Amino acid sequence: MSLLVQKYGGTSVADEGRLRNVARRVIRAADEGHQMVVVVSAQGDTTDHLIELARRVNPSPSDREFDMLLAVGEQISISLLAMAIEAAGRPVVSLTAAQVGIVTDDIHKKARIVEVKSRRLARELKAGKIVIVAGFQGIDRNGDITTLGRGGSDTTAVALAAALGAVRCEIYTDVDGVYTADPRVVKGAYKLDRISHEEMLELASLGAQVLHPRSVELAKQYGVRLEVLSSFADVPGTLVEEADKMEDVLQVSGVTSDKNIARLAIIEVPDRPGMAYRILADLAGAGVNVDMIIQSMRRDHVNDMSFTVSDVDVERAMAILGQTIVDIGARGVDCDRDVAKVSIVGIGLKEKAGVATAMFQALAENGINIQMISSSEIKVSCLIARDQADLAVRAIHDKFFTGGLQVAKEAG
Ligand code: ADP
Ligand code: ASP
Ligand code: MG
Repeated sequence: MSLLVQKYGGTSVADEGRLRNVARRVIRAADEGHQMVVVVSAQGDTTDHLIELARRVNPSPSDREFDMLLAVGEQISISLLAMAIEAAGRPVVSLTAAQVGIVTDDIHKKARIVEVKSRRLARELKAGKIVIVAGFQGIDRNGDITTLGRGGSDTTAVALAAALGAVRCEIYTDVDGVYTADPRVVKGAYKLDRISHEEMLELASLGAQVLHPRSVELAKQYGVRLEVLSSFADVPGTLVEEADKMEDVLQVSGVTSDKNIARLAIIEVPDRPGMAYRILADLAGAGVNVDMIIQSMRRDHVNDMSFTVSDVDVERAMAILGQTIVDIGARGVDCDRDVAKVSIVGIGLKEKAGVATAMFQALAENGINIQMISSSEIKVSCLIARDQADLAVRAIHDKFFTGGLQVAKEAG
């Protein structure tokens, strides 16, 4: 009997009707002969509401208590889904991450799974039960509850699929696959039948919410067959797979934006060896990831150094840099939260010069100022004003995809 992991996101379990819809889908897959492990997220906007609730009680709660509260949302949905399946007369059990043994490191709010114990899951499956598991949460070695970062239920699902050797991990959401841009922002975006792990990882890391970046990494690492599908329609979704299995390579596979970032600049860093190292090591030591690093040209023996950090890390980064600048003798730190990063991603970018130029042209034609640029083999990112992010995504998408997907293969 083959084992299937399905994951249903917040919108898919938002109310009683939708929970019953998910229960029917799970039972249908079980009837097709699969052992079923089902991961669910918190209902609708529950996680946002919990964050708001925490802030009302304490504007800066400790990370431990924050995770303790946030993990509650998923416990509501697993029990409700289990009840919906029970109501249909099927054997089922719901389990929290602690009950399964989804062990993470102790970095609260963005913990990484280090081990999935499979004993309890195997026992329940052997007893013929459908197993419902809480996404997004884990337990660290001290027995404390952790969370995996926003959108982290996808990662729970792929980690379980890897640990159990599932035939497939199906991620059910409110869109029917991965599109060339967020279909809520770009009405004419195209659905991709397949996308490579590399491209999907970049898109997810650069703001395309549809998959949690770590889930893509784990799928690639453990060879999990990963699919994104709609829980509201029975249509084929998008398969995330090895690049070398793909027949067609698009020059640009997707356009995305990330509005949850801020730009920090350290002003007048003394121009001597070891400064960048000191600044970035201090941030890394506190678990703050930085991106788009640029250093200005030297003038009067000082440089300015700018980079972006995730919104959630801004306070921590500012606190650390406050000390760093005193130690190294820099003049100050500037923070701009009204920024967004827009990016294009595509394996085809490796081969063609001129693709980045087309992106810059799209921004220029729309009067959008570029504040920073960074690129790697398969992506180009620009930092722009946050209120222009959607306009930028539409303009860039138009540039590459007007006329269909085929144009994207040939343009440039
Ligand atoms: P879930 O709650 O099911 O995990 P999410 O809200 O996390 O759902 O992710 C699905 C959303 O991702 C879609 O509603 C869509 O607006 C957004 N999205 C952003 N970029 C893309 C993209 N390139 N393709 C598909 N969806 C995208
Ligand atoms: N409920 C969590 C969130 O809203 C996890 C998830 O949805 O995957 O981020
Ligand atoms: Mg999600």
